[in-house]
Amino acid sequence: MQYPLPIAHLIDAYMKLPGIGEKTATRLAFYTMDMPDQDVDDFAKSLTQVKKDIHQCPICGNITEKDVCDVCSNPNRDQTTIMVVEQPKDLMAFEEMGEYDGLYHVLHGVLSPMDGIGPEEINIKSLITRLQKNDAVKEVILALNSTPEGESTSMYISKLIKPAGIKVTRLAAGLSVGSDIEYANSITLKRAVQGRTAL
Ligand SMILES: [Zn+2]
Repeated sequence: MQYPLPIAHLIDAYMKLPGIGEKTATRLAFYTMDMPDQDVDDFAKSLTQVKKDIHQCPICGNITEKDVCDVCSNPNRDQTTIMVVEQPKDLMAFEEMGEYDGLYHVLHGVLSPMDGIGPEEINIKSLITRLQKNDAVKEVILALNSTPEGESTSMYISKLIKPAGIKVTRLAAGLSVGSDIEYANSITLKRAVQGRTAL
């Protein structure tokens, strides 16, 4: 038996989410049908709202609902240091740690030639432009995950920036290889930032 089309469509939609296979998608679709109308309405609205209201900060690439994100618009942040991270979730992890008071640059990915992701596909150009326009920046901390892609992206960026005389550092090897910054605890992150080494 085939599911009625609206249910099949909903199952397909759930299957587009990461880590959700057909079985889970089907369970979620049936669960959705049993939800109160109001809850389903709110759910649908929050999906469209997040796409409409959230955009990338034009300066650093962080996600924000304002013109410029809270970090970039805060004059009390240390304007001499930029920490480069892969994803907004990594930025959140460092903010939660609460020790870092510099600025950020969010790449929204790492270089991965096998997946067709080159320098043009992530926020590298905007980082270079930002550094060229702003000579207050004295240090760039590369805080990418210790995956092969993260490593080669760090090397790539380091080569681009170093000739400009800016100090380039990377996190201390406190994070185990392949571990996600997003999931590291605050103490581990703090140690990784404090023990950062020059590249
Ligand atoms: Zn920003």
